[in-house]
Amino acid sequence: MAFSAVIVAAGAGLRAGPGEPKAWRPLAGKPILRWSVEGLLAAGAADIVVVAAEDRLAGLEEALAGLPRWRGTAGGATRAQSVRAGLAALPASQEQPILIHDAARPFVAAEHVERLLAALATADGAIPALPVPDTLKRGDRHVDATVPRDGLWRAQTPQAFRSAPLLAAYAAWPTGEEPTDDAQVLERAGGEVALVPGDPLLMKLTWPEDFAMAEHLAGGRRITRTGFGVDAHRFGPGDAVWLCGVRIPHTHGLVGHSDADCGLHALTDAILGAIGEGDIGQHFPPSDPQWKGAASDRFLAHAAALAAAQGGRVLSVDVTLICERPKIGPHRDAMRTRLAEILALPLRRVSVKATTTEGMGFTGRGEGLMAQAVATVETPA
Ligand code: MG
Repeated sequence: MAFSAVIVAAGAGLRAGPGEPKAWRPLAGKPILRWSVEGLLAAGAADIVVVAAEDRLAGLEEALAGLPRWRGTAGGATRAQSVRAGLAALPASQEQPILIHDAARPFVAAEHVERLLAALATADGAIPALPVPDTLKRGDRHVDATVPRDGLWRAQTPQAFRSAPLLAAYAAWPTGEEPTDDAQVLERAGGEVALVPGDPLLMKLTWPEDFAMAEHLAGGRRITRTGFGVDAHRFGPGDAVWLCGVRIPHTHGLVGHSDADCGLHALTDAILGAIGEGDIGQHFPPSDPQWKGAASDRFLAHAAALAAAQGGRVLSVDVTLICERPKIGPHRDAMRTRLAEILALPLRRVSVKATTTEGMGFTGRGEGLMAQAVATVETPA
């Protein structure tokens, strides 16, 4: 779903200690503000208004160099004034949902935005919120009371809103009063605000020590993804089969447009699956004559290259070949070695297994051969 976004970066961030306003401080070599803009662009933002202090507007060009679909506008003395300025800078015909985000939460990602936009199906607004894990006390120098934390939530940003109710709520909000967040403006106007699961990674960089933690996260924020692949080919005339990049003499060959290497095809699909890049048929259509008789190691190498293009790397692979014959055992080490070569992996992270189906089914009757594969791939989150 298309959406617009207002990113508020006009605050001085006095609690963050000396130095530049926090949105402008570098995090892993990029201004924190840029992280937020990139995160919302990656989530599909159609246009973004960045609200910055007047004397910082010129600096936006450098901080956001090369990024599309954003424009800057000057903020006001308070956060609410800055949000109003941002909303005013959106196209007048604005109808798509509006996300309002604090620049100082740099780790916003597509998954956060998806949850929020989905919640707008049944509410005027949606906010990411986390339960409060710590016991809450009220007091000054001594505890006056313990505050029940049932039903209490920590509200984060981005906060998502249907356009019309949000704009109407801001129009009705008294100018002299400062809301603590944007959802409050909608709440006051009687709008319904949905709670969706928040994320510790949406933390707001506030105190000096937050920046060190963010540096650590920015360097190490990667996830492991798993993909699964299956392939089968029919036996036909021939004197050898190709499996996992190894030629094995046999009473038959395998029929296919390429070299019919089931093991490589299943593994290629497993890697493509792990990185969300479709399947082997999309990248190498059987209808394309250039893949006729092609050696399938190039398919696997291509999938690994696509993972690398996402900033990822294949961690480990596991292939199971399902057939009565040929016997896989004598060739297993050669297969592992070849897969390790193609993927530039240590041998210990490459597994090739074999099983029969005890004479049952098409593999049991020797009509064809099947392969299944799992790949784990580490990528940026
Ligand atoms: Mg195939």
